[in-house]
Amino acid sequence: MIDSARIASLADTPLSPRQHLIGGSHRPAEGGGSLDVVSPRNGEFLTTIANGSAADVGLAARAARRAFDAGVWANQPPAARKKVLVRLAELIEEHAYEIAVLGVRDNGTEIGMALKAEPGSAAGSFRYYGEAIDKIYGEVAPTDPGHLGLILKQPVGVVGVIVPWNFPLMIGAWKIAPALAVGNSIVLKPSETASLALLRIAELALEAGLPEGVLNVVTGKGSVVGEAIGLHNDIDVLAFTGSAFVGRKLLEYSAQSNIKHVYLELGGKSPNIVFSDTPDIDKAVAAAVNGIFRNSGQVCVAGSRLLVEESIHDEFVDKLKAGTEKLKVGDPLDPDSDIGAINSEVQLGKNLEYVTVAEQEGAKLVTGGKRTCQDSGGYYMAPTVFDDVRSDMRIAQEEVFGPVLSVLQFEGEEDAVRIANSTDYGLAAGVWTSSLGRAHRMIRQIRSGVVHVNCYGGADITVPLGGMKQSGNGHDKSLHALDKYTALKTAWISL
Ligand code: NAD
Repeated sequence: MIDSARIASLADTPLSPRQHLIGGSHRPAEGGGSLDVVSPRNGEFLTTIANGSAADVGLAARAARRAFDAGVWANQPPAARKKVLVRLAELIEEHAYEIAVLGVRDNGTEIGMALKAEPGSAAGSFRYYGEAIDKIYGEVAPTDPGHLGLILKQPVGVVGVIVPWNFPLMIGAWKIAPALAVGNSIVLKPSETASLALLRIAELALEAGLPEGVLNVVTGKGSVVGEAIGLHNDIDVLAFTGSAFVGRKLLEYSAQSNIKHVYLELGGKSPNIVFSDTPDIDKAVAAAVNGIFRNSGQVCVAGSRLLVEESIHDEFVDKLKAGTEKLKVGDPLDPDSDIGAINSEVQLGKNLEYVTVAEQEGAKLVTGGKRTCQDSGGYYMAPTVFDDVRSDMRIAQEEVFGPVLSVLQFEGEEDAVRIANSTDYGLAAGVWTSSLGRAHRMIRQIRSGVVHVNCYGGADITVPLGGMKQSGNGHDKSLHALDKYTALKTAWISL
């Protein structure tokens, strides 16, 4: 049950200007500059964040390296690190409303989802990796009796973390929690349109007992702060979530600097495939609606291509239209809103451009296609469905990252697989069928990091998330995520 009164009491609290958090202290940007934070709810000025520079990244990287080399965190026993991370999880839970409302004011996600997916999920991640870290062992190699071969996992050193504006806490914690658990220090750069909640988490981390300099946050523009992190010679690993466009740049920065490992969680154009033998058409419709429109489609695994088998197409699209038009778009802090705001005016503009492109390419607008709730002053878009989409259209190939669904028809399994695999992306997929054999064939043939069967979305912290093709490399979540933040070291001992 959502506490509406609590949300209302936090909704308009004045916010003081925010600064970087470096070496355990708040610091203004070196050049003294700041960026305005505008709320997508109503277009109103909220506060400012520090407009960081390469000099700020340098300070943060030095603080992180100093903390790492001094061993203030890395050399603490795993059980001690666990205590801090579990305490941080508790603090996040204690401050869940404050953090969720702060995040929603900054990025526009509907509050019901934000409470679960942001503080809720972040707390879960800190607890999961905190609890895990004193239960992981190294290995002893099967050597001859005259030698001992040890296989050790050590922290890599300083990790650069760059995250996007959708679900900044959930995605941030998927990287920060495992990186901290194994003993690394971090330089974190949140998105310029969603920095506030992550800055708050970093403050809570200090309160939980994380030593100063272990988690540093530098805010500002991607092209400045992000680039400086990418190029920094003293950052050992880069963990990124965002667009393929920026992911490519990070690989270049790595090549131009210290060849740091670059782990990329990128975009998607995920196919949600409904066969005529779907066990429950209404459930498939509801999941298709939820799978694209929650958080206004600003979800990396959004089922943005709906592939429907020809024989059920008309019935499905009728139900889809009805389900979509039932959604209430409005203030993300109103628990009755099904869909909140688009993160920024720029992103709203991009979404609307895709509507024009789709119409020009001959797709049929079923519903939506326009800006809405304009009186609020915020950035809202009506959930939009296009039918008669062909696989070669831009609307079927490019990630919109907004509430825009493309419906494509197929006939039979082979056709479904061909269309599903026909984009550069490979993040997620859904398959709806009553046939166990078909479900397994589809799981094998669809080139995506995850395939959902008779559901869409979900998957808890125990299951890795990563992309194939241009959706990225490496994995967030689960114990597999620890591999990104640990260096395998061996010792060969003569006995
Ligand atoms: P973006 O790539 O524009 O920005 C992501 C981050 O990179 C931001 O912090 C930004 O400031 C920074 N950045 C921008 N330019 C940079 C540069 N030149 N050098 C270094 N950093 C730079 O992405 P976005 O618009 O914030 O987020 C949307 C994208 O994120 C979508 O493509 C979405 O699919 C993807 N995403 C992927 C996942 C996943 O797990 N695969 C999850 C969420 C979002």
